[in-house]
Amino acid sequence: MSKKIAEIRELLMEHHDWFKKSIPLIASENITSPAVDEACASDFSHRYAEGWSGERVYAGCSFIDQIEDICMDLTKEYYKCSHADVRPISGVVANLVMYNAFTSDNNGKMCCMSIVRGGHISHGPRFAKSGREIFGTAGTTRGLDIEYLAFDNDEMNLDIDASAKIIREFEPELVLFGGSVFLFPHPVKELGDVAKEVGAYVGYDAAHVSGLIGSGYFQDPLREGADAMTMSTHKTLPGPQHGALVSNREDLIDTLRSCAFPALLSNHHLHNVAGLAIAVAEMLEFGKEYHKNVIENAKGLGQALYERGFKVLMEHKGFTESHQIVVDITEFEKTIGLGGDIEKLLEKANIILNRNLLPYDIAEGRHYQNPGGLRIGHLKSPDLAWVKVK
Ligand SMILES: *Cc1c(COP(=O)(O)O)cnc(C)c1O
Repeated sequence: MSKKIAEIRELLMEHHDWFKKSIPLIASENITSPAVDEACASDFSHRYAEGWSGERVYAGCSFIDQIEDICMDLTKEYYKCSHADVRPISGVVANLVMYNAFTSDNNGKMCCMSIVRGGHISHGPRFAKSGREIFGTAGTTRGLDIEYLAFDNDEMNLDIDASAKIIREFEPELVLFGGSVFLFPHPVKELGDVAKEVGAYVGYDAAHVSGLIGSGYFQDPLREGADAMTMSTHKTLPGPQHGALVSNREDLIDTLRSCAFPALLSNHHLHNVAGLAIAVAEMLEFGKEYHKNVIENAKGLGQALYERGFKVLMEHKGFTESHQIVVDITEFEKTIGLGGDIEKLLEKANIILNRNLLPYDIAEGRHYQNPGGLRIGHLKSPDLAWVKVK
């Protein structure tokens, strides 16, 4: 067995060495500060603390409660809100809490971004398509019937008029904004008003952009009409791999809390709560500068690639308002290959990014395994000072 342990440790070391020599550009990744790492490696990773702080089902939680209270307070300050649940163990779990709270378990209905245009698989339906079953989380775990909002490929954003029509006709219980390909703020105000007309809740999945939003960039969903905002805490927010849900709906707090525990959680990964508390404190101090640089870097990379002849989407809007850009590489199909081929070639050159469907890929006969696009996110090399990404 010690041989296996040595092998695992060796592989970890090789991975670390490789990433130190690499340019990691995966948009959903970030790196954590030494203080966050220390918290995540603490004894909290051995402990249990089911329930809400102060009302635990386990003994031994006095320090855990104090840190979780601090984490909730800092998160409320960062997002200017009255409720912050820092227990969901990932962005997907935070979405499940939201589905539990805002949709019925029988024949519930939701409108959201289409997955092929940048929505996330956790928003997806469960259905069979050309002999292949699709297992989207919302459909598989909550049985939700999903109708996609309309998307304007030329603006890389939701089409307001066409989406409003869909919401009025479908009458969902939840209208969900946000996605994984997310260049520009979604029209939460405009379509949120339509959602409320039909009695739907408004949700916002800030998995990718939670750091940008907390630091005051991109958009401000809770003040634009969102009843709840879910997030991953490790994409533009440089925290540990975890999730959170925030809201300003005082009347819904009890429901939202219960829909997390006992509905979905037992242990909620207390070391990551401690790490998150530190990451949010860091962002309250440095986030304005850090995230300004993140967005400027993404725009700068878009401009630089564009000037070198690459088809970076959305030149007419400055490429992006977030941390990511999307490049159409279909012109290389005959010479080098498509997204999947190019992703592999770049990986050999220690440039790590991911292939991505372009909004028009499916219509043009391309598949997600070898799509026509690349998604490029912000740089986060462990060798660079993490606050000053320039
Ligand atoms: C990444 C992502 C998630 C999933 O988050 P995890 O923390 O990996 O569970 C959910 N929604 C969107 C839009 C995402 O991009």
